[in-house]
This record gives sequence, structure tokens and C-alpha cells, in this order.
Amino acid sequence: MSLPHESDSPISTSLSPAAGPPAAPPRRAQAVALLSGGLDSILAVRLIAEQGIHVNALTFMTHFGCSAGIEGSSCGHDPRKVAEGMTNPNITVRLCHLGQEYIDMVRNPKHGWGKNMNPCVDCRIMMLNYAKEYLREIGGDFLMTGEVLGQRPMSQRLDAFRMVDRAVGMVGRILRPLSAKLLQPTLAEQEGIVDREKLCDIHGRSRRPQLELAKRFALKEIPQPAGGCLLTDPRFSEKLRDLFDHETGAIVGDDIHLLKIGRHIRLGAAWKLVVGRDQGENERLEGFARPGDVWMEAIDHVGPCALGRGTPDEEGLITAARVVLRYGKAPKDQPARVLVRRVGAEEHSVLTVTAIEQETLEAMRV
Ligand code: SF4
Repeated sequence: MSLPHESDSPISTSLSPAAGPPAAPPRRAQAVALLSGGLDSILAVRLIAEQGIHVNALTFMTHFGCSAGIEGSSCGHDPRKVAEGMTNPNITVRLCHLGQEYIDMVRNPKHGWGKNMNPCVDCRIMMLNYAKEYLREIGGDFLMTGEVLGQRPMSQRLDAFRMVDRAVGMVGRILRPLSAKLLQPTLAEQEGIVDREKLCDIHGRSRRPQLELAKRFALKEIPQPAGGCLLTDPRFSEKLRDLFDHETGAIVGDDIHLLKIGRHIRLGAAWKLVVGRDQGENERLEGFARPGDVWMEAIDHVGPCALGRGTPDEEGLITAARVVLRYGKAPKDQPARVLVRRVGAEEHSVLTVTAIEQETLEAMRV
């Protein structure tokens, strides 16, 4: 993508006074921004919109949003709230969903994972690649993000910025307004599309400069700092790692959403059980059941439902039934019955077992 010729930009003042048809109004500069919904990205967008540049903000949603019920935006903010809050006429917000391609990237990120299963560098590259496509589509001028130099150890370092810019093929074309004065001027600044003087020199983890800027923009709602999307959550990451390690076939959105509910018990390389924690989860578990899965519930006592997935042998089925009893109200040492049904099949069987020992269960919990 090439930036527009200088005469196309709104800062051009060379309108000819010569006679003839009236000159077309100068074209308005356009940016495409990544808008996670965090304070930084909101402020960056506002800083650029304030310069009269139209900002097309893209909010990406993935299967790894923080809420189990809805798909949160990237980095764990609520995308709908963000979009609704952007009432400035210089800003338009688009919600974009990253589906299977994103899951596949998380499974095998070129630049690796962070502290947990968060592949922040690859994630930024993917989002920026989509943003670049969109920039090309609309004939925009530059890309921008709300990143702050030195704020995050993995993705917000100078060398990470450079590497990402190269990977996206946009060296010198990605503006980071909050830290711009600490970075090499981008083409948009050099060409005068953006007034560098009005940008910031924020760096590090303190939020104070951002809060001052938020005051200047009279932001009504200041988003709380979010640690990131679910991929930065240690517990969720353990479950995801377990899934990646044991699932040899494709992993789809439903598999990811199943990780967000229940207790997950690894019973064998190809056999796993998810046990509902309450009535709501028991009902939701049913929605995840696929033909071939195993549905289990205690018959003699109140207890949870469980969804088994994989190819258990007889011993694996018995262990799973013992787990189901352990989470129910069955007396710990007395045999009780558990219903076992293959999803999609008419017949069912009943196993009579005792609840598994707590220690054994703990060792199998993911
Ligand atoms: S926390 Fe990292 S992986 Fe998650 S959305 Fe943000 S950049 Fe992407």
C-alpha cells in the first residue's frame, strides 16, 4: 500500500485560484486503528480524531474473550460497550470476528506464547494484517495502535514494535500516538498528515499520563486495566494446553468455549471428563454434547452431570463414573449407580461404583 500523494492530503493548501470548475474539497485523511477498548486504545483514537483525521477503528473479537457467555473483544474488554461509547463523528467502529484462523494461530504461534498461552506478538500481527487489508480497501493513509512503549514485556518493546511492523510489511506506517514522540517519526508524521507535536511521549506501566489525558477528553467511563484476554489467565491456559496436547484433530470454537465451564478431568490420552459445577453448567454442558460423547449422571443421589469426550476403555468409564459420584452427594464409601449414555445412541448402561478418592481426583484435574 502506498500513502496518498501529498496533494491528496488535507494539509495541502495549494488550491489554485485560477478560473475553471471549482476544485474538489481536499480529501480527508483516514486512519485504521486497532481498538481493544482499553483506555490506551481509546485515547490513541481520540488523539488522532482530534486532529480532524477520520479514524476507522477495528475491534477484534475472538473465542478467547474474558466472559464465558459472550465473546469478549481482544485483550478482554467488552466490544459492544466500546463501540457504543464512540460517538465522535470522526470515529467509526467496526467489530470483526477472528474465528478458526485465530484458534489455529494460538495453537501454533510463530513467535511463541507469553507467560501463559497468550501469543501476543502473533495476535498483533494477525490483527494488523487485517487492518492493513482494510486500510487498502478504503484507501486510507496509515495504521495506528494504542500501544505504549515499555508497558507490556512481550509485545510493547521497541524491538517488538519494529519486528511487528516488518512482519506486517508496514515499516514506518504504523503510528503509536501515545508513545510517538519516543519513536521514529512515521511517514504520516513526516508527510504532515499527522501533527507530531500533538502526540504523546508516554512510556512504562504507570497509568497517570493516560488518566490525565482521559480527563482532557472528558471521558465519562474509564475502562479498568484488563490483564489481557483469557489466554493470559493461568487456569484457562492450563486447560487449553491440555487440549492442544491431547487433541490430534481440529480444534474449533466449541472446544474453546467448553474450556470455560465445568471441572476438567484428564482420564487418559484420549479420554477427558467435564463435570458441571451447578445446575446452569449442567444444562450448558448438554449443549456441548456431540454424537459419540458420553453423558453421565448419578442415579441414586443428587449430583452433577458430566460430559466425557474421547474413546474410553472400560476402566476409563468406571473411573469417570467414580469422579461423577465424588462431586455429588453420594456417601463416600458406599456403592451407588451412575447412568452412562452415548450421545446420539438409544441404549444406555448403569455402572455401580464408589466415589473416587480426593487425592486421586486432584491428580487428574486439569
Ligand atoms: S492479551 Fe495478547 S493474545 Fe490476548 S488479545 Fe491481547 S494481544 Fe492478543
